Amino acid sequence: MHADVFQAWITAAARVIGEQRDHLTQLDAAIGDADHGINLDRGFTAVLSAVETAAPATPGAILRLTGSTLISKVGGASGPLYGVAFRRAGQALGDVAEVDLPGLAAALKAALTGVQQLGAAREGDKTMVDALAPATEAFSKAISEGASRADALSALAAAARSGAAATVSMQALKGRASYLGPRSVGHEDPGAASTALILGALRDAALAGQ
Ligand code: ADP
Ligand code: MG
Repeated sequence: MHADVFQAWITAAARVIGEQRDHLTQLDAAIGDADHGINLDRGFTAVLSAVETAAPATPGAILRLTGSTLISKVGGASGPLYGVAFRRAGQALGDVAEVDLPGLAAALKAALTGVQQLGAAREGDKTMVDALAPATEAFSKAISEGASRADALSALAAAARSGAAATVSMQALKGRASYLGPRSVGHEDPGAASTALILGALRDAALAGQ
């Protein structure tokens, strides 16, 4: 996968976040402060224009610029967390021109590590980690079992979606939703939902170029 796939990922992510902006905000209205879709839509709109202006040449440079733009443009908890995720992924890729499946898996793992170092959330705490962790695990497992690119990326996106769905029955232990205590149960976590959208966009972008 070359820079064009990563450019297509960011473009597809921005589009789906825009389309799902109100849905993400409604999820955040139930257990937070009703700004998640607005925050991310603003952030990814800024990312698109930053990437268009700077036209980074490598996959890693695209992801590092995505991360630093999200950190500077998105308020709330999710900006720094997504920012760190994309920056760490970009750092893991370095400046290679082409990324293979194990390289992408290592980048996603670095993203997860960054999110957990910054936010201290574990699986089960009802956060974006509940989508990102099972997705990276399913992706690495599929690759180690010799799955095709299409199958590995489908496993990644499917695990993120089911991880997000599984947050409905969890009680939030991190972030704003944790203030609700047991009343946070029964709602999907907005950050887990947006992570599933972003990883679904990665699958779509990586498979479109095949
Ligand atoms: P805020 O909560 O500041 O309004 P957003 O609404 O944009 O920020 O994002 C909320 C999302 O951020 C939550 O749904 C959750 O997935 C994620 N989040 C919050 N705190 C943490 C944390 N400590 N670790 C991981 N993710 C977190
Ligand atoms: Mg919020």
